Amino acid sequence: MSLKTMLKQMVCRHEIEQCVKKEEYHHLQGDTVYHVCRKCGKVVKEEFLTWEEQLARYGRYV
Ligand SMILES: [Zn+2]
Repeated sequence: MSLKTMLKQMVCRHEIEQCVKKEEYHHLQGDTVYHVCRKCGKVVKEEFLTWEEQLARYGRYV
């Protein structure tokens, strides 16, 4: 990661959106959800959510 990118991520007021990686292998129970800033690309958090948890939290599948 370049210094410029690091600085950008440090001062960025993150706008987080959730996404999943399109993987060939799919879990039956859910997906790993990445909380990514749309402005600087920083992955703030990643967690495994079941389909039910995704629905409960976001009202849809991420
Ligand atoms: Zn950001």
